[in-house]
Amino acid sequence: MRKALGFLLAGLMMVPAVAAYGPDDLPEQAGDYPVPGRSDMRMRVFVYEPRAGRPGVVVDKSLACVDPDQNDLVAPAGWKLPVGNWRYKLNVGSVPSSVGGSNLGTIVKDSFGPWQSAISNQVNFVYDGETGVSRSALDWQNVITWGRTQGSALAVTYVRYYTATGLVADVDTVMNKKFTWSLSQCGLSNSYDAQNIMIHELGHWMGLDDEYTDNFLDNTMFGYGSRGETKKNTLEAGDENGVRAIY
Ligand SMILES: [Zn+2]
Repeated sequence: MRKALGFLLAGLMMVPAVAAYGPDDLPEQAGDYPVPGRSDMRMRVFVYEPRAGRPGVVVDKSLACVDPDQNDLVAPAGWKLPVGNWRYKLNVGSVPSSVGGSNLGTIVKDSFGPWQSAISNQVNFVYDGETGVSRSALDWQNVITWGRTQGSALAVTYVRYYTATGLVADVDTVMNKKFTWSLSQCGLSNSYDAQNIMIHELGHWMGLDDEYTDNFLDNTMFGYGSRGETKKNTLEAGDENGVRAIY
């Protein structure tokens, strides 16, 4: 009996922690997760970490305001948005006052725009109104909001996609309200540029992965964000060609 119990405990401990979350308990670590109750879907979680938080990395602030070209191809993540209209909702009330709720529509449009033109408008982003939702859920609303995420993340994007078709089902981006945010002021040492981070997150909506090696440092899809940086608010050739390869 005791031996059987020992086997049972050993078996329980081998269950991967990655699957251990309930409907109200969203995973906040980067990874690919099952979707509770939906065997036809998976959920990928992207966590955008500050570059300053990376051990041994020194951020040169003088480099934050130049925008060198970069041609290396950004890799696909394994899904795409369906061709046609893709609706999104905005939590205007969640936006920090340093950015301004009234600016959110413009920030988001300016962040979707370059991606949409890179694929010749095959996907057309349509504003679908305001929401009070500040947390990701499979609710068939694609939400952009500020809210609570895990401590060190600048932003977290949750992509729920159909494994059979590789099409996105529901996608949400939560910007971390814990940090200080600004808008279009390069070189600030105390804040993150909202559009610089937003356009990167929307690259995950499109189907692009993060790139972490230093040759991608100047790409929008580089996996770390820096304070005062605005150079990623425009796409590089490597970002554009990456998304064109998917659509
Ligand atoms: Zn990312």
